[in-house]
Amino acid sequence: MELAIDGGRPVRESLLGYGRQSISDADIQAVTDVLKSDYLTCGPAVERFEDDLKRATGAPFVTSVANGTAALHVACLAAGIKPGDEVIVSPITFAASANCVLYCGGTPVFADIDPDTWNISPERVKEKITSQTKAIVAVDFGGVPVDLDALRALCDEHDLVLIEDAAHSLGSFYQRHPVGSIADMTAFSFHPVKTVTTAEGGAVATIDEGLAQRIALFSKHGITREESLMERSPHGGWYYEQLELGYNYRLSDIQAALGISQLARLPEFAARRRNIVAGYNKAFSDISEVQFQYDPHPDETVRHLYCLEFDTDALGTTRRFIFNALRAEGIGVNVHYLPVYQLPFYEHLGYDQDACPNANHYYDRAITLPLHCCMSDEDVADVVEAVRKIVSACKKERQ
Ligand SMILES: *Cc1c(COP(=O)(O)O)cnc(C)c1O
Repeated sequence: MELAIDGGRPVRESLLGYGRQSISDADIQAVTDVLKSDYLTCGPAVERFEDDLKRATGAPFVTSVANGTAALHVACLAAGIKPGDEVIVSPITFAASANCVLYCGGTPVFADIDPDTWNISPERVKEKITSQTKAIVAVDFGGVPVDLDALRALCDEHDLVLIEDAAHSLGSFYQRHPVGSIADMTAFSFHPVKTVTTAEGGAVATIDEGLAQRIALFSKHGITREESLMERSPHGGWYYEQLELGYNYRLSDIQAALGISQLARLPEFAARRRNIVAGYNKAFSDISEVQFQYDPHPDETVRHLYCLEFDTDALGTTRRFIFNALRAEGIGVNVHYLPVYQLPFYEHLGYDQDACPNANHYYDRAITLPLHCCMSDEDVADVVEAVRKIVSACKKERQ
């Protein structure tokens, strides 16, 4: 069959996006109800959303914030990251995982990924630890939790703070413990392509009460009314103190209401995503030229992304060609991610472009396929058909 990129008939007429939100009538009703209520921000919906997140993540403390980037920023602030400090970060992630360190004046240090899980490798992390290292920002790539046991052991041994960037992994479990209940601090994002959305939104979960107080402080201007935290005796009921230089990173009640309603649908989202991932894995397991993400416990994972690594050498082609060919077939593929140190801003900071060979190898071959809860079984079949079509065309060309 002729490829659409060469003028053939595409697998589908309309482009299937790689990610999108699923909004129900109940979600819309929840937002409308808040708009008619007394509080658009700083109201009861925010508190309820945080309580629901505590239940979903098993974390004793959760603070909702404006977005996932703000969550990572306040986590670094709460960890006390300052100029001169080094923080070890996964290179295969969204820029925010490293930018949060720079916001605090710290230095991101990239440790290479594992070639099978595409998560940061604890062995490579270990090699990067110096006397300046203060924390690790570990990303659960695609929703598959990082090796938290190994990272925890390194953090305990070297007195480091473990920050888990769980923007992809809300709802996932690590050894039967929900993501959010394990690392010192766990950052979530509720951007529309993520599993649960509040349009823009995020949260920081923590298992430590002291960190929880600092997270709350830094996300609300550094201001507190809490008597136990205030240094001087209250002047009266109006009195508050600013103890730190914080930010206005609050989530509104409008967003929180959407979050409450969406979070109630997490089991439905998780089941559908698992079902699509299982279908993809089954379909691609007999194509030796593609590799999917290794996940030791797929039944415990809620996947945000489904990426494939194409063996471009065996296929005698480039990732760019496969990407363009899939787009021409009507499959809205994407790439996650350009290694952070390859972004011009980081390159100009002088990062060694060859320090993480596994990350570079992965990036040169990676393509993200559509994965979201609005996909039908036919959509999934279209994606599989398009990948098969392109792989066979490349192989035929080689013969
Ligand atoms: C989405 C994402 C973020 C940032 O979240 P926003 O809500 O968009 O600010 C951070 N890290 C990773 C890995 C992400 O995918």
